[in-house]
Amino acid sequence: MSIGARNYRAGKRHSTRAGTVYLVCFRNPDGSKAWVGHAGHYVGWSRFLSQRKVRHEAGHGARLTSVAVSLGLVLELARTMPGSKNDEYRVKCSGGQTRYCPLCSPSPSRGVWGAAIARTRS
Ligand SMILES: [Zn+2]
Repeated sequence: MSIGARNYRAGKRHSTRAGTVYLVCFRNPDGSKAWVGHAGHYVGWSRFLSQRKVRHEAGHGARLTSVAVSLGLVLELARTMPGSKNDEYRVKCSGGQTRYCPLCSPSPSRGVWGAAIARTRS
């Protein structure tokens, strides 16, 4: 279980401040799917997503994305939705993100992401 899911189940509540929940898909430089151990995706939340992504790509901001960058992987922003940190934890709690990722699944599930899809392959 992820730390996020553990915190969620422990009843820890986070800010309901508005921001953006985002799904990062790890890709190889050639565009094929990449994994960091068992993780193929990273879910995060930020009030300032573009700055946050720059930090991720510089190897900061989260352990998982830092490792991905050190492996030479590309962090593809696959999906976003407006939401709070509570929404981020709901997403993390919903488990494997492959089925919600527009880059990995031809017809991704909505799940708790709702209908808004940042990018689709068409
Ligand atoms: Zn993906």
